[in-house]
Amino acid sequence: MSKVGAERDHSFNPDIPVPRPIEPLDAPPHLDFFPAHPGRTAGTRTAADIFSVVVHATAADNPATSTGAFFQSPPEDPKDVGSAQLTVDNDLCIRSVADLGIANGVPPLNQEGLHIEQRGLGEFPREKWLGERRNTMLRCAFHVAKWCTTFDIPIRFLEVADLEAEGEKARGITTHANVSNAFGESTHQDPGPDYPIDVLLEDIERFARGDEMTDEEKAQLAEALRSAQRFEDYLKGENSAIAGDSPPDQAAPDAFKRGFQNAHRFLRFAEEDEMTDEEKAQLAEALRSAQRFEDYLKGENSAIAGDSPPDQAAPDAFKRGFQNAQRFLR
Ligand SMILES: [Zn+2]
Repeated sequence: MSKVGAERDHSFNPDIPVPRPIEPLDAPPHLDFFPAHPGRTAGTRTAADIFSVVVHATAADNPATSTGAFFQSPPEDPKDVGSAQLTVDNDLCIRSVADLGIANGVPPLNQEGLHIEQRGLGEFPREKWLGERRNTMLRCAFHVAKWCTTFDIPIRFLEVADLEAEGEKARGITTHANVSNAFGESTHQDPGPDYPIDVLLEDIERFARGDEMTDEEKAQLAEALRSAQRFEDYLKGENSAIAGDSPPDQAAPDAFKRGFQNAHRFLRFAEEDEMTDEEKAQLAEALRSAQRFEDYLKGENSAIAGDSPPDQAAPDAFKRGFQNAQRFLR
């Protein structure tokens, strides 16, 4: 039995809230944002060493950023060296350890497993996971599906008996609880007895089945994300202009510089109509971008909530946002 690494210790999880914007479900994990402390990992491996995915819950109800910050902190106790590749909550996904890094998730499946933490308590009832925490599960499923595709892991749930029969090289998806109960090297029972693993597996199947988006749909989604970026740049520019900052220097990204200039003109516009027709068109385009982004997010939220498609009375932009989000979630 491999003894690589130690175990993720659920007993300490300080609440360090770090506000981050809500992101679309496929937003890339913050690989550079929360790298785990080297003392919480156990070296590296190759793709051929990876056999399984282990699903966890943090056993604390702190934001993913808090768990990420905890994994960044130097271990204070030799028993307290845990980590995971990813942590998800309703709003975002934190990357702490590279896929080819060995996280201290749960022995003996550290070397063989990819570990994902979900914000949540072991005693959460099924309705809570399927209700208020649905997005956490979707986010988890999205990343597990990606792993299954990338590392050729079958979408097959490994029960305790499967792990006992096949050992640490068993191929599939399991939970920390099953690893504890099969190998006896841990006592943790996350993600909890009422965790809807059946629904998670359906979600994983759906995400892995595929990319059913056409090229045109992908282009629409890319445009929605570009809109979002333009809007963020515009807001950053507006905030700077309101604060009376000086114009961004040459090193600032072009989009932010444009946002700043637009915002500047806009603020001045209140007193004196100095905008040229071209500038007015730019401002109108920035506001349309913002609207498209809002429509897209509204659509995403509705699709996640499982609402039925918008009826004929819904504004076109919202209908498009809803359809994009639905395709994307599927
Ligand atoms: Zn766990």
